[in-house]
Amino acid sequence: MAHALYPGSFDPVTYGHIDVIRRASSLFDSLTVAVLNNSGKSPLFSVDERVKMLVGVCSDIPNVSIDSFSGLTADYVTANGINVIIRGLRAVTDFEYELQMAQTNRKLAPDADTVFLTTSLEYAYLSSTTVKEVAYFGGDISKFVPKDIEKLIFEKYKK
Ligand code: ADP
Repeated sequence: MAHALYPGSFDPVTYGHIDVIRRASSLFDSLTVAVLNNSGKSPLFSVDERVKMLVGVCSDIPNVSIDSFSGLTADYVTANGINVIIRGLRAVTDFEYELQMAQTNRKLAPDADTVFLTTSLEYAYLSSTTVKEVAYFGGDISKFVPKDIEKLIFEKYKK
């Protein structure tokens, strides 16, 4: 059984992430999408809010479950018997960091391999940071995130 983990900040989840989730879920027996509680970043949404958003957008994909964790991805995969780590690649700018992470994780968790899914072209430009910047100035983010997520983002900025 191949059990994959797709870890990330998902602050907030975008159509780019959802595309990776759908494609990864069809490649592996089961997929856990996990929100990384990274105290180094100051997120817009709490971990619980991000988990709830992911539960909502993944509700129609049967082999996907949602979780969150703090600490090392390598420790999470070892503790949960996961053998594949999924990451998305948009552009060469992602590559150097992702390669280093993958090699580090392979040393720390030798039983897991990182699999990269290249972005679908229509989402190559899309990042959570861009979505937040456009939303902050009241721009149209309907092409970047699902309706329910769009509402939650604008609610945050109204506060
Ligand atoms: P992180 O803070 O861990 O980079 P993100 O939520 O920004 O978390 O992204 C999680 C993963 O999804 C990363 O591997 C990132 O490269 C990938 N990703 C983000 N946006 C896209 C996109 N538009 N297309 C493909 N992959 C993406």
